[in-house]
Amino acid sequence: MTQESAGREEDGFLRRALDTIVHPVCIVDVHSYRILYTNPAAREFADRAQATTCFEFLYGSTGPCDSPERPCPLVSLLRERNPVVVEHIVPGEGPLPQTFEIHASPIFDDEGVLTHAVLVLVDATSSRVAAQEIACSGLELSGIVEHSPVLYLLVDQDQRIWRANKAVYSLIPRVEASIIGQRLGEAFHCVHAHDDPRGCGFGPACDECTVRRLVTETFTQGAGLERHEVEMEIQTNGSAHTRHFLAWTSFLPNLPRSLILVVLEDITPLREIEEEVQQLVSYRNQFNRITAEMVRVADLPGLLDLLSRSLSQACRVEWSGAWVDDVAVSRGLPTEIIHQEVARARVEGIVPDRILTWPPGEDLEPRVYTWFSQVVKRYGLRTLLLAPIYVNERVVGGIGLGSFQKSHWHANEISLIEMVSRESSIVIERLRLIRHLKEMNALLEKALQVREIVLQNVSHELRTPLTLLKGYVELLAEGMLGDLTEQQRKAVDVMRRHVDRLQFMVERLILMSALHSYQLHREPLDMGPWLQRVVEDWQHQAQMSNVTLDLNVSEDLPPVQVDEGLFRHVLDNLISNAIKFSQQEGRVRVRAWCEEKDFHLTVSDEGIGIPPEDLKRIFDRFYQVDAQPSRRFEGLGIGLSLVRDIVELHEGRVWAESEGVGRGATFHIVLPCGGTAAD
Ligand code: ADP
Repeated sequence: MTQESAGREEDGFLRRALDTIVHPVCIVDVHSYRILYTNPAAREFADRAQATTCFEFLYGSTGPCDSPERPCPLVSLLRERNPVVVEHIVPGEGPLPQTFEIHASPIFDDEGVLTHAVLVLVDATSSRVAAQEIACSGLELSGIVEHSPVLYLLVDQDQRIWRANKAVYSLIPRVEASIIGQRLGEAFHCVHAHDDPRGCGFGPACDECTVRRLVTETFTQGAGLERHEVEMEIQTNGSAHTRHFLAWTSFLPNLPRSLILVVLEDITPLREIEEEVQQLVSYRNQFNRITAEMVRVADLPGLLDLLSRSLSQACRVEWSGAWVDDVAVSRGLPTEIIHQEVARARVEGIVPDRILTWPPGEDLEPRVYTWFSQVVKRYGLRTLLLAPIYVNERVVGGIGLGSFQKSHWHANEISLIEMVSRESSIVIERLRLIRHLKEMNALLEKALQVREIVLQNVSHELRTPLTLLKGYVELLAEGMLGDLTEQQRKAVDVMRRHVDRLQFMVERLILMSALHSYQLHREPLDMGPWLQRVVEDWQHQAQMSNVTLDLNVSEDLPPVQVDEGLFRHVLDNLISNAIKFSQQEGRVRVRAWCEEKDFHLTVSDEGIGIPPEDLKRIFDRFYQVDAQPSRRFEGLGIGLSLVRDIVELHEGRVWAESEGVGRGATFHIVLPCGGTAAD
């Protein structure tokens, strides 16, 4: 838990639990000494005491102390486990200072490293006043002392009890109250000894028990001893429970040194807070681990497996399952059972919208009650929990946990499951989207494959009849099949032009589908004369379209490694487009030069131009800026995709530039001059 993460969702755990504690509590980062959290009782106390936080007593008014000259009391507090005592005048609550004790509990991370401390502020004013009272009143216990929750005993060297206040009843039953004159071991025989290394209470069989040892040592060493924590198992009405005490002894100034005061302060609530926080931190760490793992899962079954595995470990249950849509994962029982029971619940109309537990923590709807009792009976479970998984406010699945041994669900477990299931919904949404995209992708891939095959087959099928057609049209045009009338000659000319165009398109389609397996044959090509020839071939077409076609080639052009046949397609496509998209009386320029071992070629026109958003897409297969059937310019939208594929086969780059609609376009090609040896 860092300063930044203190407000994050997972710390909701700590907040929820500590918010209800009546003592002021705060959590401190032991590295930065920053207070990360204060509970409402602490905030309320700070307001009353006119302090920034009630824990500034510990730090001093200037805040965290981490300088070597002024070591933070927190360190010794955690080491020695003795509370720090501070006195403070609380405005509006009398002129005398009140006494507070600050208790600290360490919090360790998973590796056992101390990371945080829980500080609890306890008002010790009354016990201090009581101690003073005893000092003044001698053997007579005043009203304050008599009713103090702290246990006071006056004990002599023989360990005989001379006085005890009413707090003694918290240790022994009232009927045995007559303990005056008895020795410690006899009086507290019902308080059992522990194996705990911190020592036991009063066990009669145990000479080493802490309180009795304290008394002995106080008399032999002649001084009051430090506080010791004592854990005692107390038997009341046949049941045993463990309580924690701070025990200390002292001589009293106005009493003979044959008597000492033994004080036992019950700090069980503090230890319970400590345990609670420790447990919360452990749950929070588990939550962090689970969510970190969630980010890495690649599919829905992986996520469900993670949920089922991690939650069954965290809650120590033997059976767990998770399901979303029609996918289910299970541990401890066959997945089939999950499918069956979820289906059965659906039939019954049971779709839990919140966590439901068995044994029921609240009144369950009768049919839900029946379903739960049937399921636990059927599989011999003692406990069962069902948590919904939401996506977009709709229940899409759930998590089920069950145990054959466990008797109840702890509130922290329920919080963990709730938070994990909430977190999982974001991941599920993402995974569902990915799954959908994958499916779409597969469909698209398939459709593209079909398209390629159809294109390939159709273009191959067209090739032969087209060649025959072209042959006959040529024969007709050349008069080999007889003389033609003027009208017939014109018709044959039109047929000839269109057959040529058809053939050009079919050849392009065939090239396009063959390109992926094409074997490149690169040879050094003297670009200057070659470009000259290509441009000359296009001059006739340019003139017909009223377009001027220029070539500008720098003189020092070295030979460039290209597959001439293939590269010709690049030039043909670019020049044909430039002429096609030119305005009347436009100019098309072909330029070539070398720059830093790269061969540059541009084909520019003054034509209709290209909108900026289309500049990249025009190289996609079948893409046309104007794709309407009624468009002005004919074409299939495959010329530029061929250009790009061929240029890339030559390890070059191609791109288009245009200043916008009506402002012409320039196509830019860069090829390495040398080429690779492999070619
Ligand atoms: P098409 O056969 O349709 O010309 P291309 O792949 O050669 O197919 O070109 C794709 C699209 O790119 C064209 O339809 C056109 O919209 C745009 N385009 C290509 N060259 C030019 C250019 N010189 N000027 C303006 N637009 C162009």
